Amino acid sequence: MSQKQPHSLILLTGCNIEPKQELLIRAAELLHQRVGRVVAHSDIYLTEAWGFSADELFANMALELQTTLEPLEVLDLTQAIEQELGRDRAKEQEQKAASGERYCSRTMDIDLMFYDDQVIQCERLTVPHPLMQEREFALRPMAEIAPHRLHPTLGRSIGQMLEDIEKNNDKTR
Ligand code: ATP
Ligand code: MG
Ligand code: MG
Repeated sequence: MSQKQPHSLILLTGCNIEPKQELLIRAAELLHQRVGRVVAHSDIYLTEAWGFSADELFANMALELQTTLEPLEVLDLTQAIEQELGRDRAKEQEQKAASGERYCSRTMDIDLMFYDDQVIQCERLTVPHPLMQEREFALRPMAEIAPHRLHPTLGRSIGQMLEDIEKNNDKTR
């Protein structure tokens, strides 16, 4: 009997509404139960909101999972978990329309960063996540669990992408 080989998936979870730590831990538990075995996770990192203004800091965690699910199946499950943990997309649309900003506070965001070294571009999903190389808040926790993992199109490792951002920060400081 042939068994499906697991795929290596890297996710980034994030939230900026309390109880942040509990929400991130609950998300990790639900991902482990439904999406696949969590083989590594980072610490929780606190950073200022990116792309919009918010009083509350964001808390982020990176996780590596082994999954036998296909990418869109993973997305369906991660979106269901976001919703279960209180994410209300209709309310977010109203908030974004009122503030004119692209992002807003949320109880849970789960983004697919890497799925093996596949490059996926369809209506619902772009993998690797298209903005990771610009986001220190994503790269720092990812670098804790997979510093040498290579971006399949940029050819830079997570650790190198993080260094690139840090160098840029030094220049603009
Ligand atoms: P960003 O993707 O810039 O971090 P966001 O996480 O706030 O923004 P969401 O509102 O969570 O954005 O998701 C918007 C849509 O992004 C989703 O409906 C989903 O279909 C799509 N999407 C595309 N690529 C990805 C990905 N790699 N991970 C998660 N969602 C994705
Ligand atoms: Mg996101
Ligand atoms: Mg998202």
